[in-house]
Amino acid sequence: MSAHSPEHGRYDAIIVGAGVGGLYAIHRLRKLGLSVRAFEAGGGVGGTWYWNRYPGCRCDVESLEYSYSFSDELQQEWRWPERYGTQPEILRYINHVADRFDLRRDIEFNTRVKEALFDGPTSTWTVKTDTGKTATARFCVMATGNLSTPRKPDIAGLESFKGKWYHTGLWPHDGVDFTGMRVGVVGTGSSGVQSIPIIAKQAKHLYVFQRTANFSLPARNVPMPPDKESAHKAEYPARRRAAYDTPFGIAGYPPPVKSALDATEEERLKAYEAKWAEGGSISYLYSYTDLLLNKEANDTASEFVRRKIRATVKDPKTAELLCPNDHPIGTKRLILDTDYYETYNRDNVTLVDIRSKPIQEITPTGLRIADGEYALDAIVFATGFDAMTGAMKEIDIRTDAGLSIQAKWQDGPRTYLGMMIAGFPNLFMITGPQSPGVKSQMILACEQHVDWITDCIQYLRDRGLTCIEAEEAAEDAWVQHNNEVADRTLYPLANSWYVGANIPGKPRVFMPYVGGVTAYKKKCDEVAANGYRGFHFGASFKEQAAAN
Ligand SMILES: Cc1cc2nc3c(=O)[nH]c(=O)nc-3n(C[C@H](O)[C@H](O)[C@H](O)COP(=O)(O)OP(=O)(O)OC[C@H]3O[C@@H](n4cnc5c(N)ncnc54)[C@H](O)[C@@H]3O)c2cc1C
Repeated sequence: MSAHSPEHGRYDAIIVGAGVGGLYAIHRLRKLGLSVRAFEAGGGVGGTWYWNRYPGCRCDVESLEYSYSFSDELQQEWRWPERYGTQPEILRYINHVADRFDLRRDIEFNTRVKEALFDGPTSTWTVKTDTGKTATARFCVMATGNLSTPRKPDIAGLESFKGKWYHTGLWPHDGVDFTGMRVGVVGTGSSGVQSIPIIAKQAKHLYVFQRTANFSLPARNVPMPPDKESAHKAEYPARRRAAYDTPFGIAGYPPPVKSALDATEEERLKAYEAKWAEGGSISYLYSYTDLLLNKEANDTASEFVRRKIRATVKDPKTAELLCPNDHPIGTKRLILDTDYYETYNRDNVTLVDIRSKPIQEITPTGLRIADGEYALDAIVFATGFDAMTGAMKEIDIRTDAGLSIQAKWQDGPRTYLGMMIAGFPNLFMITGPQSPGVKSQMILACEQHVDWITDCIQYLRDRGLTCIEAEEAAEDAWVQHNNEVADRTLYPLANSWYVGANIPGKPRVFMPYVGGVTAYKKKCDEVAANGYRGFHFGASFKEQAAAN
């Protein structure tokens, strides 16, 4: 495999996306001696942390965990100022990584890949971009992200609105000042919950339009305690290894030992109270072994949070509306907040229920629901993303055998290990559907996939092979296993973006792998150790030449 001249747009590997996954892929594949080219729609690196600049945006996994592990120097030298990094801090970190490992020279920014076509006889992918560029490579790595396709508000009259409107996932780079404005926030998922307390402090009046109440726990963010940082750093490599032996890829939380139903009411309250005081979602879900498996067990944890909401929010009607009652806690992305419920005690904040009175239209001066119009100067849509499949399906991915990703995934995604797709040789996905990606610490998930993909390419090179493809039967079995594992849990009970419920018309299929990081990694490692079981290989260049 030779490096080709970049001028001709020929590379060994094309990488689509320069978030944490794409950047690490550039680093690893380049170290393998491959020529790589990355295309990134945004004007800089960072992906999620480049686009989501809304007020209050921060990670909900502690930053000592939510960071790269591949370089010990990097993890030792970087200093996280707070327990949970803010968006600007995380973006600064990712930019530092791009500079430290000289990654930018292989990235074309402001360039969106529109098409990717596989050619069987040459075993190559050719991509076309919105800048008119064409590039060809043996391997194509989709690092396009799970939460990177903002769901555009599809509400009648939006174009007539005379004020300004924003999507949290496409936030203006120079920020927005809501001082003195009447602001509407539509949506109370993670982005809404993070931004609402901050917008409320600026706005003259804030109207929160809520369709579904979601569970949120206190983050308990604090400046990084120096002793915690030094203790963590002293054990970094061991902690990183330990993370792979946990369901969510996050170490440091003692695993639960018993069922919630084996504890007395008093014991449970004590346990939940301690977790509530500690902050963090993993800690809370780790209270008992069966919170995500048994509805009765889960009810005890859900009810505890509802009681906290009622105790915090002074107006009983508002408190009741904020109490989630249509899904078990943890079956939708569990949110972490700072002063979310407290915000509803402010005089300038009104919660509006759009479940019972749906939005009818946006008018030039505001937003109309069944019982009247709310006058607004600005609207913030915190309406989430076409998650997990959106970015892949926005690209016209086809093969010369006549397959397209749009057709193949029309009833929901089908993958082998969430990394490859039968019928689409040499096309890798980083944290694709049916991998634990979104149900884990995602930088770890990206690293695990990139490492596996790099080893796989090395394996092909060592054997003079040019092509690898998932077998249909292996893919079918993996999809089935994925569904069976999900069906053993409470996850399918929720109308979440895990099942595409937030996108009208999207097939309702449970997309993430919820068997846990440990089981998943073991399976990936076994597949590789057994000569990439479930994959078949194409002919090598030599064999092809001989056949012609
Ligand atoms: C607000 C928010 C908070 C989050 N907090 C956490 C957290 O606390 N912990 C956690 O583990 N995860 C969190 N996540 C998930 C987060 O997405 C991942 O942690 C991680 O950043 C994903 O990295 P990635 O490289 O896989 O994808 P992304 O960061 O989404 O990057 C994908 C990139 O691909 C580009 N792209 C997509 N399609 C194309 C195309 N056709 N052509 C060119 N470029 C393209 C996009 O522009 C984007 O820059 C959060 C997500 C959001 C939205």
